[in-house]
Amino acid sequence: MSEIVKTEAIVLSKMNYGDSSSIASMFTEDLGKITVIVKGARSPKSKYGKIVDPLNYLAVVLYKKESREIQLLSQADIVEHYPNIKNDLSKLGYAYGVVELVKNLLADHEVNKKIFKGIVKILSRLNSGEEKSEITFGRFFMFLLKETGYEIQIDSCALCGKQKFDGDVFYNFEKGLICGECKKTVVDNYDINLELFGYLNCLKTNESAETFSNLIVRKAIVFMENHLKYHVPDFKGISSLKLFN
Ligand SMILES: [Zn+2]
Repeated sequence: MSEIVKTEAIVLSKMNYGDSSSIASMFTEDLGKITVIVKGARSPKSKYGKIVDPLNYLAVVLYKKESREIQLLSQADIVEHYPNIKNDLSKLGYAYGVVELVKNLLADHEVNKKIFKGIVKILSRLNSGEEKSEITFGRFFMFLLKETGYEIQIDSCALCGKQKFDGDVFYNFEKGLICGECKKTVVDNYDINLELFGYLNCLKTNESAETFSNLIVRKAIVFMENHLKYHVPDFKGISSLKLFN
């Protein structure tokens, strides 16, 4: 017996299968990350073949069978297709960066509606260009780290609890934020100057961050990548950012 499921989905990736079909990975609102087959997708007559394409936001209908690893797509309609992202290599790099993080940090079938909404929001922000793409991406990265249990702890010094800092601060991937005084007692400190610290705070609190330099914005992404590499040994960094930027 298969069950008919209607849900919304972001297409993460797609590959050819057999003579005319495609297999796609999707992050769905109600079933989490799943794999679907689109039968006949590559035939010119296919209604859904072109719609099921990476980065598209779709409303889909699936025939779902618990015992099956790959679900069958029966219908798909476009909700958003983000044309400005697809016409801009830099935006595309960050959008695929979002896809990579979702593929790396979420297990199959793990349902998380908050993350689903977050992806939709970030793709729409990248598409509209209301702020620099690298800042928008940084906000998503910070949000996703928190939602998947790898939160960057920068509220207070992990050792003495101090919350106001006059000199530079440091970060230990195991412990969290370390103030100048406590630094002496901790090995393996990541140096965070006050500007980077201020920017990371803006990402966390969702405040405007337009005044920060490109250098700081990029340093923050590298910092979050290093934080994630420390906690997830299989994670080797976000390759899309290097590929497109
Ligand atoms: Zn301290």
